[in-house]
Amino acid sequence: MWRSRVLVAALASMSLALGAAGSAHARVGLPPVVNHVPTQEKVVFITIDDGWNHDPEAARILLEKRVPVSLFLLPGATSYDTEYFTRLTGEGRASVENHTVNHPDLTTLDAAGKDAEVCGAGERLEAAFGRAPKLLRPPYGAVNDEVRLAAKACGVKALVTWTHDVTTWGETPPTPRLERGDIVLLHFTPTLAADLQRALDAAKAAGLKPAALMPHLKSAGVL
Ligand SMILES: [Zn+2]
Repeated sequence: MWRSRVLVAALASMSLALGAAGSAHARVGLPPVVNHVPTQEKVVFITIDDGWNHDPEAARILLEKRVPVSLFLLPGATSYDTEYFTRLTGEGRASVENHTVNHPDLTTLDAAGKDAEVCGAGERLEAAFGRAPKLLRPPYGAVNDEVRLAAKACGVKALVTWTHDVTTWGETPPTPRLERGDIVLLHFTPTLAADLQRALDAAKAAGLKPAALMPHLKSAGVL
């Protein structure tokens, strides 16, 4: 048994060394980056980011329809009203995931900076919500192998970006035609309730149901 562990460790360090040289083998052992889940089931994944605006109407929709949803939250955005989110995880079907502490482009930070942002957010979210996040949404979707390595060291199983951003940023974007396994991005903005409703309507129109990410990442063989 010890031999295989040594071999795995050797391969991991070799792949990192090769990574510096740009080898395709650099990806060995690093958590995957996912913008779509390769599932055969008729599901889509609703994700909501940041957490600055705590709209009661959006919470009402999530709780009433019991929508499974992944919330990629900034600890600072939850700290002044943690209860808003504990209702969504307790009475609803939301899981809280990692989105860093200060929302930086992680690719611009050194190793210590990445560690502080990712591990720091994970620890604060675990203290507030009682569960260590397993997924990381890198701010701006900015990822490289160093970010994946830092995420792995903080217990992250997958880095999740998105297929469609349905957030109203000034203008409401066209509603996408959703396909199975798509990951929909929303934000805790003042338009969340309307944006969420459009996403739910688009899922229904495509014959798809919102589902929880983690179990489907496992059943689809991504994790
Ligand atoms: Zn964000």
